[in-house]
Amino acid sequence: MEIITNIKQLQQKSISWIRQGKSIGFVPTMGYLHEGHEALMKAARQENDIVILSIFVNPLQFGESEDLNSYPRDEEHDRKVAEENEIDVIFFPSVDSMYPKPLSLELSVVRRADVLCGKSRPGHFDGVVTVLAKLFNMIHPTSVYFGMKDAQQIAVVDALIKDFNYPINLTTVPTVREKDGLAKSSRNVNLFDQERIGAPFIQQALQYGRQLVENGEKNQAELVKKIRQFLENKSHGNIDYIELLSYPELEPIELIDQQVILAAAVFYQKARLIDNVVFNEKGEKTLG
Ligand code: AMP
Repeated sequence: MEIITNIKQLQQKSISWIRQGKSIGFVPTMGYLHEGHEALMKAARQENDIVILSIFVNPLQFGESEDLNSYPRDEEHDRKVAEENEIDVIFFPSVDSMYPKPLSLELSVVRRADVLCGKSRPGHFDGVVTVLAKLFNMIHPTSVYFGMKDAQQIAVVDALIKDFNYPINLTTVPTVREKDGLAKSSRNVNLFDQERIGAPFIQQALQYGRQLVENGEKNQAELVKKIRQFLENKSHGNIDYIELLSYPELEPIELIDQQVILAAAVFYQKARLIDNVVFNEKGEKTLG
């Protein structure tokens, strides 16, 4: 396994692999790797000749009051996990090398970003697609791997690839969870004990919502109201949003008559957690 910090070096390596006809699987992350990230690495390892993992906490996708500085980091641990998963290259750029001066050009997401996390975190997805466009141009991946935990990110990356004609396959990987159902996240270490006890109720609330649809509930507003009531006292946090939208278009709907995403975000003292479930009009889980 090689650790590359230099952009030119990465670009040259990738180009030479492509010339040799090798497929490149790319797993973009912000590090502090856990089993969710490992699921992406394993999928990439199975399907490609070369696997590149990037670890970059991208300042462009954090708002001013967000947790950029307290975002957990552990280079040594990440190196070990990558090694165990037979990664060929960890790309570990510095902020200065990615953004040596303020960019003159940034991408802007004009659909699929005015709801859910895009609404709560203005500019977040602009930062995500801008860094991904840079990384895609450095790596030229055959396939990229993203987790369903960040379902809106997948919808936005799907748009980036299609709208800008990147010749890249997008592979989505189901959410990996703790035994009690909490979605694994690098941010879980920032939960206080009581918050950690309440956090699994996020997924329980979403599953409760899915079951209501299974039992015949069709009305979006009613459903969201019931889930809010369920979650309000149990989560030990403050609900940022609970939303039900069409998926992957992320359009508002009144009646549940197609594939939808039911998603929630909850603020804790030092972390904000998100989770979702995607299901059809019968309440049957369809993705993730
Ligand atoms: P992050 O390091 O949080 O930016 O995540 C990097 C990638 O890992 C994204 O595609 C995430 O969706 C994915 N990921 C994070 N947590 C999980 C999880 N619990 N299960 C599956 N994928 C995950």
